[in-house]
Amino acid sequence: MTRYREFHRRSIEAPEDFWRDEARRIHWETPFETVLDRSNPPFARWFVGGRTNLCHNAVDRHLAERAQQNALVYVSTETGIERRYTYAELYAEINRMAAVMRSLGVKRGDRVLVYLPMIPEAVFTMLACARLGAIHSVVFGGFAAPSLAARIDDAKPALIVTADAGARGGKVIDYTPLVDEALARAQHKPPHVLRIDRQLAPERLNASYLVDYEPLREQFFDAHVPCEWLESNEPSYVLYTSGTTGRPKGVVRDVGGYAVALAASMEYIFEGRAGDTMFTASDIGWVVGHSYIIYAPLIAGLTTVMYEGTPIRPDGGIWWRLVEQHRINLMFTAPTALRVLKKQDPALLKKSNLSSLRTLFLAGEPLDEPTASWIADALGKPVVDNYWQTETGWPMLAIQRGVEALPPKLGSPGVPVYGYNLTLRNEQTGEVCAPGEKGVITLGYPLPPGCMSTVWGDDRRFVSTYWSSVPDQQLYSTFDWGIQDANGYVTILGRTDDVINVAGHRLGTREIEEALSSHTAVAEVAVVGVADPLKGQVALAFVVLRDADRYAADEARAKLEADLITTVDRQLGAIARPARVHMVSMLPKTRSGKLLRRAIAALAEGRDPGDLPTIEDAGALQQVRDALAAGGKA
Ligand code: ATP
Ligand code: MG
Repeated sequence: MTRYREFHRRSIEAPEDFWRDEARRIHWETPFETVLDRSNPPFARWFVGGRTNLCHNAVDRHLAERAQQNALVYVSTETGIERRYTYAELYAEINRMAAVMRSLGVKRGDRVLVYLPMIPEAVFTMLACARLGAIHSVVFGGFAAPSLAARIDDAKPALIVTADAGARGGKVIDYTPLVDEALARAQHKPPHVLRIDRQLAPERLNASYLVDYEPLREQFFDAHVPCEWLESNEPSYVLYTSGTTGRPKGVVRDVGGYAVALAASMEYIFEGRAGDTMFTASDIGWVVGHSYIIYAPLIAGLTTVMYEGTPIRPDGGIWWRLVEQHRINLMFTAPTALRVLKKQDPALLKKSNLSSLRTLFLAGEPLDEPTASWIADALGKPVVDNYWQTETGWPMLAIQRGVEALPPKLGSPGVPVYGYNLTLRNEQTGEVCAPGEKGVITLGYPLPPGCMSTVWGDDRRFVSTYWSSVPDQQLYSTFDWGIQDANGYVTILGRTDDVINVAGHRLGTREIEEALSSHTAVAEVAVVGVADPLKGQVALAFVVLRDADRYAADEARAKLEADLITTVDRQLGAIARPARVHMVSMLPKTRSGKLLRRAIAALAEGRDPGDLPTIEDAGALQQVRDALAAGGKA
């Protein structure tokens, strides 16, 4: 562990020296004067005075050496389209898009709201924004109109870029009616809406405000648009958090710090080298998509694979076939996708030649032990869990194999990443927890480069939301619980919002979920706390069974419910015992695979589940309603 320890220590004790060295990884048009400005805590400014550009670093800079290497490989199992763009071709497409956007009046500092499905034009748009110094704000394609309207009003874009439609699981989702309704609801009226016409929507609406991209692209086919050299701390993008726990926050990212942090992470965490191929199965609407579909792999000179479709269409072997066909070296996805694959025929994994694959990375939600062991055994390659948030932009906890390949620990995303002064704190006193003691995961000041610089348009919310939970100390709260062992490995115990209070005992719903998942009948589980007149709160569980047919009969279900309750009793004690275990065939989740416990709890207490912009499948909420209504019967 010594190499890792020493590396981490240096990054915390001498951050200026540490990051000055790392900053050499990117191109600075004008060198920075100061590595770190800490004059206005909790705000931190990295590489002050330096001028650079994300698009230049991701694309232009590679043209001398790798113009003919693939930069972007695009595969859609929804439309059957597959395209490859070399760095030279990507450069040309970005310049066309940038010229079109400029002709529509977009300039440095303007916001551009990107409401697009997973198509190459989304990459062109984001990088064209970076080129022009415009601030992109990507909103999940298919978000409901009210959520889109709220983001339009918050970001006040000068341009919206959208498409006629998205597609998912073979279903076409018309975007135009959603954009129509959002524009009608929003106070802010963007002057232009640019449409990428995929010719997918069955009834192509032709709202008068829509400008089609294709004719403009032709017009600007040979355009060259120079990069705007931005000061390192100018904003590059705004990205709203998932909203799992409340009103989404517009996370603002800088330019220089982000580029440096991502470039360093490609070596120390992902071990990705120029010429490698990386497949991040995520969505551009999520932070993993921003950082590891687009910016990091391109900044480091890799080929990035962008995929539109689900992991199980045409069948559960599709991702593994992509690995074979495109000689993918690094893969990155969320545990939820693996749980889906595990339910399919796992033998599909063995049918493809996976020899090119070096490592599988997972992030976004807790990686349960059964899934972790299943995939590690099946692949026979390292599986690296990593923990982070929209706010941080890149991992806070991981085994940093490029620094030292520490042994993985099941159930833990690893040890604190260099640059992060990560400690677990007692929620009340703010004191550092002893090994094995549960606490809130916090970060010391300053946050390393690449982390959020503020909340869009609301510096005060940045301070009051993130920096005020531990009294008298300059600490950033992640709002996640964890526990750290004597070797530094942290296990995530859930969100601080997910704590329930049963008769004066504080319990993490996550721990109850772990106990239930250990039962072989359980595939997935969500536990929420609901108000109870006697105990304050009680736990309520919703489980998805591995083999629902076995428990079709009422008796079998009742017996299983009793069995599950006993399992919790045995592992955590009777106090943690769920009042009921409801059986459903799916759980409500966001598009990025996060469980919507907030919505389940609301339904269980008879409240309106509220704004659920990213819900994956509304049918899942209906199942929760039905299960609750069925009441007495399990
Ligand atoms: P909001 O902040 O609006 O409620 P959100 O927190 O769901 O939304 P994200 O930033 O996408 O939005 O999610 C980050 C959170 O996901 C983390 O704070 C943590 O709770 C969880 N998470 C991410 N990676 C992991 C991981 N490897 N293991 C366990 N939990 C993880
Ligand atoms: Mg969050």
